[in-house]
Amino acid sequence: MRKPIIAGNWKMYKTASQAKEFVEQVNGLVPDAEKLDSVICAPALYLTQLVDAAGNSPLKIGAQTMHEKGEGAFTGEISPVQLADIGVDYVIIGHSERRQYFNETDETVNAKVKSAFSHQLTPILCVGETDEQREAGQMESIVEAQVEKAVEGLTDAQIAELVIAYEPIWAIGTGKTATAEDANEACGIVRKKIASLYSEDTAGKVRIQYGGSVKPANIQELLSMEHIDGALVGGASLEADSFVKLLEAGS
Ligand code: PEP
Repeated sequence: MRKPIIAGNWKMYKTASQAKEFVEQVNGLVPDAEKLDSVICAPALYLTQLVDAAGNSPLKIGAQTMHEKGEGAFTGEISPVQLADIGVDYVIIGHSERRQYFNETDETVNAKVKSAFSHQLTPILCVGETDEQREAGQMESIVEAQVEKAVEGLTDAQIAELVIAYEPIWAIGTGKTATAEDANEACGIVRKKIASLYSEDTAGKVRIQYGGSVKPANIQELLSMEHIDGALVGGASLEADSFVKLLEAGS
């Protein structure tokens, strides 16, 4: 039985006071950590403040990216050592916006996933196809290749801890959600790929989220599907009341 995981991705939104207000509103309404893993992935600037504000609540805090090295001359970057040191638990790796605008490649994604594990951070690995790739019938091969390259060198135990977010690029921030059946099919393809690389047992443990215009109105149906163990949510995670509704649906 896989525990569901709902993660919000705030991207480059919110001021410090808005971030603080959000946590004050949400704290106390976050489901028990035995039922659901609840995560907010915030801009790096607010991570310390959010870790403190979340305190002992089951709400966990994640970063939206990181450098793969523990330290070094990499101006402007944030390292896994720094994230772990302030109490961050999760980190999104390979979000399509990072791949599209910030030169993330399958190689850097793989290095970052391995580095996150080495520093006791749980990676949320993002994969997904573009509209054109889906139209051309390439969804399966694109997603399989992204998964295979991203997990290269990971152990069975690490795979069992990994969170994979299947996020079709055409559904992110567009209001176009994949049908629950299409999302489940793609998440099933991810699981099958993990089974072929590791084992059925390990594939049965990895948690796979769907992401792409998830909101309170559609989350229930998505979560009812066999291979969908949670959601990575952008827009609908920005308002406290809608985020709480998503958590309620997941618990
Ligand atoms: C995301 O940022 O990963 C995402 C899925 O965004 P949205 O929910 O707004 O489509």
